[in-house]
Amino acid sequence: MSPAPLFRRVALIGIGLIGSSLARVMLREGDLAGEIVASARTEATLATVMRLGIAHRVEADPARAVEGADLVILGAPVGAYAGIMEKIHKHLAPGAILSDVGSTKQSVVRDVGPLVPAGVHFVPAHPIAGTEHSGPEAGFAELFQGRWCILTPPPGTDEAAVEKLATLWRRAGSNVETMEPTHHDRVLAITSHLPHLIAWTIVGTAADLAEDTKQQVLKFSASGFRDFTRIAASDPVMWRDIFLNNREAVLEMVQRFAEDLSVLQRAIRWGEGDVLMEKFSRGRAIRRGVIDAKQA
Ligand code: NAP
Repeated sequence: MSPAPLFRRVALIGIGLIGSSLARVMLREGDLAGEIVASARTEATLATVMRLGIAHRVEADPARAVEGADLVILGAPVGAYAGIMEKIHKHLAPGAILSDVGSTKQSVVRDVGPLVPAGVHFVPAHPIAGTEHSGPEAGFAELFQGRWCILTPPPGTDEAAVEKLATLWRRAGSNVETMEPTHHDRVLAITSHLPHLIAWTIVGTAADLAEDTKQQVLKFSASGFRDFTRIAASDPVMWRDIFLNNREAVLEMVQRFAEDLSVLQRAIRWGEGDVLMEKFSRGRAIRRGVIDAKQA
């Protein structure tokens, strides 16, 4: 007889890039989930999930999907969490772990926390892994390999529940770290949210310039600009929700960034090559740090 799986039944509420990648991990490993149940907003996504064979069952109604599940993972844009919780909270099984994969964490504690029934273990999570692609077809089991997954359990959360969820993410290939939601949101504001905001700004500026000058600016994208266009292709709904739900930290980082940009602007204006050299050399050192941390 094969040993009992880590989770008897896992409900994925929202199964796009991240949810489907996790489903693929669970199917690959074999002993993580006895049954995978998926729910999404549209029939088209549910049909795709069945066609791909990445869940054992799909349910249009998220309340039905979570019934009897010992692990529920929210994998929709964070702005949809409150509405989903309204539908599912009365149907969560006692003793279940309720988690998510959302890119902001204070908002998840705010929107989900108050509706978590007694006896359900709430362990928010954020895998720091992704691509600019969306939907269940974009997922792949190796997505989380060598990446971080940050858990932000509220104080007093059952340690065994936290450890069980950490086991799932470790088996997905991730390194797991626990953090305060406020700290998470500040760190991600600078490492992920601000870079995306810059990408949309620069891509928009270039597109406007092309329109103004009636010249084919975008034809010459093969330089640094190309990397920005990749980031700027990310899902607009997901990112709108991230910015609206991590407002304070993002605005602080935009302010810091604007100040630092002014320093470079001034150095260029006044021909201060030494200032530019110092800033650019620091950049190389930071890149080396990212490579050494195996996050390149
Ligand atoms: P995605 O590929 O766009 O998939 C989103 C899923 O959520 C789809 O199954 C979608 O269903 C469902 N959904 C959307 N709105 C919903 C609603 N109102 N109610 C119920 N289900 C809804 O998104 P993703 O990239 O996997 O991102 C999912 C979550 O992971 C987000 O919170 C995001 O912040 C976080 N995250 C993303 C990345 C990344 O790089 N993409 C990385 C780390 C964390 P339909 O297809 O039927 O609309």
